[in-house]
Amino acid sequence: MNRDGERGKVLLSVTGFDPAAWHDALKQAAPQRDIVLRADKAGDPDITYAVVWKQPPGVLRDLPNLRAVFSIGAGVDHIFSGDEVPDVPIVRVVADDLTERMSEYVVWQVLDHHRKGPLYREQQSKTIWHEVRMQPAAKEVSVGILGLGTLGRDAANKLRMLGFKVAGWSRTPKQMEGVQTYAGRSGLDEFLAVSDVVVCLLPLTQETHGILSASFFEKMKRHGALGAPVLINAGRGGLQVETDIIEALDAGRLGAVTLDVFQTEPLPADSSLWRHPNITITPHCAATSDPRALVPPMVAQMDAHDAGKPLVNLVDREAGY
Ligand code: NDP
Repeated sequence: MNRDGERGKVLLSVTGFDPAAWHDALKQAAPQRDIVLRADKAGDPDITYAVVWKQPPGVLRDLPNLRAVFSIGAGVDHIFSGDEVPDVPIVRVVADDLTERMSEYVVWQVLDHHRKGPLYREQQSKTIWHEVRMQPAAKEVSVGILGLGTLGRDAANKLRMLGFKVAGWSRTPKQMEGVQTYAGRSGLDEFLAVSDVVVCLLPLTQETHGILSASFFEKMKRHGALGAPVLINAGRGGLQVETDIIEALDAGRLGAVTLDVFQTEPLPADSSLWRHPNITITPHCAATSDPRALVPPMVAQMDAHDAGKPLVNLVDREAGY
């Protein structure tokens, strides 16, 4: 803080989001901080924090007094995919608002597949009245969640409350009441063998890139409670190999798929994913970052850090999430 009680500037760079909404929320939560959309000069010594989403190349360069970078989302692959990221702590979003939105999405999509939403919508479009008699109960269906982090754990608990059997897969071993847990590459086959529906809530890292591919679909549970395995990906598009998804659907190795995220976003109009009858598409909306909910705790962290307290929800650079 300087003599006038002003705090360092915050650099705001949020490609794809409305900067005005983030600017207003930052100004309201941090009236003593100047919020700037770009550095006035190279090496601006007054910028102490950056709040970013897909920052353009060079935006974080030459900021000698930068103390931390805040991602406006839970994922941070967008930060690393640009150019070199300065060697300061990176803070990601961990917030009930975001977590609850994601669990809503997961529950919505799991229930939609479980209760044959796509089939009944198609029947309605053709005025067909036909009840599928073999509707399994939730307790007969196992939902496997890839990623038992902040989002995966909450979704797992909410699915359990609905009566589903729930399994989870993580990098390091985890224990969760009522959830069958598996870890590491060695645990993946077993996890896939028990999961009728696989929900992907993994971060995109070097290790997880392209994990949702032909060899993965090959190992998914056949002839389960829903007839054929269902995949829901709300993690990141880079986790999936889209040509392999279409091939697996056409070969019957996958029964149905929901995708919220894509290798290229927005999904190009000529992508065959749009037109596949067994694919449900949503436009990366599973859990949006709402500045009204996310900015106040971000600013509280900046203030606490300036007062000498440690930052929380830090990204492990080596692991990439
Ligand atoms: P967390 O960091 O809290 O959790 C990540 C989980 O993935 C952890 O359980 C971690 O294992 C596991 N994991 C990471 N790498 C591997 C690996 N190589 N093998 C097995 N498991 C692995 O993240 P969040 O739950 O907060 O968020 C997850 C992702 O959701 C984000 O990274 C983002 O990409 C996506 N997201 C999508 C949104 C959307 O709107 N579509 C919105 C928000 C987030 P371990 O527990 O051992 O560390």
